[in-house]
Amino acid sequence: MKTPLTTIDALRRAVEHAPQRPFLLFEGLSFSYKDIAAIAACWAARLRAVGVERGDRVALFLENSPAFVTAYLGTHMIGAIVVLVNTLYRQTELRHILNDSAAKVVIVGDQAHADLLRQANAPGVVIFASDVVLEGADDAPDWTRAPEPGDIALIGYTSGTTGRSKGAMLTHANLMANSAAVTVAWHWTEHDRLLLTLPLFHIHGLGVGLNGTLYTASTVDLRRGFDAADVLDTLARGETTMFFGVPTMYTRLIAEARRRQAAGASARVDGMRLFVSGSAPLSPQTFAEFEELFGHRILERYGMTETVMNLTNPYDGERRPGTVGMPFPGQEARIVDVRTRQPLPDGEIGEIQVRGPHVFAGYWRNPQATAEAFDADGWFNTGDLGWRSADGYFTITGRARELIISGGYNIYPREVEEVLLAHPAVSEAAVVGLPDAEFGEQVVAVVVPATSATDSLEQELIDWCRARLASYKKPRRIVFVASLPRNALGKVQKHVMQQQLTPSGAT
Ligand code: ATP
Ligand code: MG
Repeated sequence: MKTPLTTIDALRRAVEHAPQRPFLLFEGLSFSYKDIAAIAACWAARLRAVGVERGDRVALFLENSPAFVTAYLGTHMIGAIVVLVNTLYRQTELRHILNDSAAKVVIVGDQAHADLLRQANAPGVVIFASDVVLEGADDAPDWTRAPEPGDIALIGYTSGTTGRSKGAMLTHANLMANSAAVTVAWHWTEHDRLLLTLPLFHIHGLGVGLNGTLYTASTVDLRRGFDAADVLDTLARGETTMFFGVPTMYTRLIAEARRRQAAGASARVDGMRLFVSGSAPLSPQTFAEFEELFGHRILERYGMTETVMNLTNPYDGERRPGTVGMPFPGQEARIVDVRTRQPLPDGEIGEIQVRGPHVFAGYWRNPQATAEAFDADGWFNTGDLGWRSADGYFTITGRARELIISGGYNIYPREVEEVLLAHPAVSEAAVVGLPDAEFGEQVVAVVVPATSATDSLEQELIDWCRARLASYKKPRRIVFVASLPRNALGKVQKHVMQQQLTPSGAT
């Protein structure tokens, strides 16, 4: 069969070629491709019974579970659109996403989530995951309402890291172009087994993990969430071949492996061929410690809700710490001047732009934001800053909105954060700009100390930075905290810190 152009093409291909192959492992249960297609068909019937038609929105307010996977595919079977909802979201976020997307149906896993929807006064018919009727599950699925490649498959709301979240519309063609690129780049085949602990409500878990599994007709071992001990226990059994995570997961795996080592146990990962990190910057320290402990060089990649994936370190070539590698096959990336949008030479920092079949179809019901996101010739402005080396590796220096301009100098927070992280007394660091009457902005570092902070640590860290960076980049102030505010994906919420640190009345 030809290359799948929709998730339903991919499902159908797997059902026809390998119906009994395990697609999903979950808490001791194993679902074959045939099983998943059959349950998805029951979801399709259930949704049609409440009036869902092609193009209608179906919101999934669900934890990782077989219900998530089958409701996702069942929605697609009738050409409807999936809206992803972070399960940690509460009233304000739920109201925004469900009203903005005008969801006809919201699928929930339990009464507690249904209650949250009621409190939020959110629109949409609420259906419980347990409500799906498995009648007729032995019949062949009805493929006649399958979507077209250009149809919207899902609306993913951005994490809201830099403000109010927008609904990015990804078509089936976008999703499958991504899966095609990822599976080629990472040599993903039907023999792989992916351990997936990332939430499926985010594009990293769904767009990369689940869709890649479906596209290759391989197997995903899905977890409700991440637990370092569980991951190491699972990898020790030797059946898993790939793990996709965010940087905080890797720091926790390192800590857990060290704890086991101290207790005389080893952390074996036989059978593993690939560890991938994305969604936030992986520090070179974490990369080095992981390699030392596990003998694997983590492959760092860069993606976003709007595009699923943009750049990746090579599978076969050099995986260079601190960089996110090169464009995936079939995709383009370049660096442009933030103001003029003209391409910049290698080595210069500017905005990262990307172009290709993976790039989304625009923001849902937001033509203005869509127009601002694209240049005339189809380049998408990622909002991230970075530079390209002469041999083609891209390095991300931060988000355009988080760039600090102090006394006319540009300061890239990531550069200062990495210097701080290299100090043994620093466990985590985030650098932000705060209003400053004289310089416009001042550099402030928020640090989680490795052990408790001593009185002299602030000055010691400022001196450490001064010795390693131009003076205007050194933090003026260091604030010690027990933990950094992070979202479900482990991304540091810098706007939250800025609000907390800005004295009221300051501009
Ligand atoms: P919002 O757009 O609402 O502010 P967000 O950008 O955090 O939220 P996502 O689409 O979940 O929402 O995240 C994509 C962003 O995550 C990228 O634009 C980039 O800033 C960051 N990111 C992803 N991978 C990496 C990486 N490997 N290194 C550094 N940053 C990364
Ligand atoms: Mg974004």
